[in-house]
Amino acid sequence: MHELSLCRAISGVVARHAQGREVSVVHLDVGALRQVVPESLVFCWGLANADTAWAASELDVRMVPATIDCLDCSTTTVLDDPFLVCPACGSAAVRITGGEELLVTSIDLVDTQDRVRGRGGGAGRGRRASARTARHPQRAA
Ligand SMILES: [Zn+2]
Repeated sequence: MHELSLCRAISGVVARHAQGREVSVVHLDVGALRQVVPESLVFCWGLANADTAWAASELDVRMVPATIDCLDCSTTTVLDDPFLVCPACGSAAVRITGGEELLVTSIDLVDTQDRVRGRGGGAGRGRRASARTARHPQRAA
């Protein structure tokens, strides 16, 4: 259920950027602290988008490790486990610097150049290609 609501939020970002164009792949960064199961997210993606133009699109999930900065000794640590304690000095005064992401980093579009007037050619007719669209990562939730 958690993953399904996240997929709906991601879907909203895709809708804003795809603007009716066909989408092949949605690239997503998910922080380790989000407690999201990537496989569940991918499974829910199809369900959440059944009635959209990107129903057949692939969700490419990249997990981002949790990182912290220690406020006492300034050590930056990539956490292997979810204990928010500085391993260098044992301090619990840490700032989370990574691991809370849920970002749509880019969207691949199915190439529609041959159907769009007024734009120079290049790609062959009917060839499936991808184009990066989102210029800045979009926070989904
Ligand atoms: Zn420390």
